[in-house]
Amino acid sequence: MISEKLSAVAPLPVAQQKQDKKENVLPLRSVEERKCLKKHIPELLWMEQLARKFSDVIDVTIEDTIHWQEHDLPLYSLTLGNKTDNQVPTLLLTGGVHGVERIGTQVLLAWLQSVLERIRWDNDLKDKMQHMQIVMMPLVNPVGMFLNSRCNGNGVDLNRNSPIRADDKTPWLGGGHRYGGFLPWYRGREKDPMQTENQMLERVIRRQVFNHPLALVLDVHSGFGTRDRLWFPYAFRKKPIGNIANYFALKLLWERSYSNQPYIFEPQSLHYLTHGDLWDYFYLESKQTSGCNFLPLTLEMGSWAWVKKRPQQLLNFAGLFNPQKQHRHSRVLRRHIMLLDFLMSAALNSERWLPDDEQATLLKQAATTIWCT
Ligand SMILES: [Zn+2]
Repeated sequence: MISEKLSAVAPLPVAQQKQDKKENVLPLRSVEERKCLKKHIPELLWMEQLARKFSDVIDVTIEDTIHWQEHDLPLYSLTLGNKTDNQVPTLLLTGGVHGVERIGTQVLLAWLQSVLERIRWDNDLKDKMQHMQIVMMPLVNPVGMFLNSRCNGNGVDLNRNSPIRADDKTPWLGGGHRYGGFLPWYRGREKDPMQTENQMLERVIRRQVFNHPLALVLDVHSGFGTRDRLWFPYAFRKKPIGNIANYFALKLLWERSYSNQPYIFEPQSLHYLTHGDLWDYFYLESKQTSGCNFLPLTLEMGSWAWVKKRPQQLLNFAGLFNPQKQHRHSRVLRRHIMLLDFLMSAALNSERWLPDDEQATLLKQAATTIWCT
């Protein structure tokens, strides 16, 4: 059960929302600093380069800055599309929650780059963007990425850090623990607020997502098994999520539209439970505090397939989570473009596939038969 109460959240007044948005100024860096960042966290420079080149299309906000060694590492949010109409649907994309899984950040940036280039000439896409907003935080944990570490700079696993306690047995350590940051999957101290990176996520979601009627969410990870999986909540309990019919409708839509797609679409709890999952937390928060139909998914890219093809990757930690051969890396970057484009269209056309009450009853029965028996 949930042991820690979700904070009561009212939507922020507009004036406060504006005040919370920090200056939209990208940092100037010395040659030495650029050299160092290029070596350890080129994804940050890639994101800044896109933000500069397409500054007429992207709104960049520095939500916070983490001071790490001699570096100031900004936590960026990017917004594209219709930034003024609160009635348009949202696509929320996040990556790099686990720093070592840098391929997740790269998949999002590669897709973003493609969208930005196409917007220059593709009027259909440009028109589409006027009817929705895309909010991205492609690099949630820059210190973790700098260090090639799953955790953030405090040794905390950001996806075990929300105030949600699992209902049932979790894998020892892997499900999240309070022993300390010297072991992986550390949740942080019980009484502490969520880590800065997660507070940033929460702030952006409250400010820009919960005040919209619908949000499809994709948080990109790598590392579990040999297949690519699309997981939806819960991670903290086996009991099906309340809106499982919506997820089942989305699964059917996806599989009918792309019949040769490679993903396994399922609840995370089929595999294991965890404490402190971010998307359990934000989903429950959306129910308590907003009218937003909030549908988070996690893409868990099956990195063991890359290791199987190149076992020497076992010798380095980053090799367990990232494709390291050039051709495989390129293949992974283009592999998920179809999924991201689909999510964009699904968010835009939700009234065409979200079930009504009667359909929801049938879909819920089907979902329960497939996933919960
Ligand atoms: Zn991960």
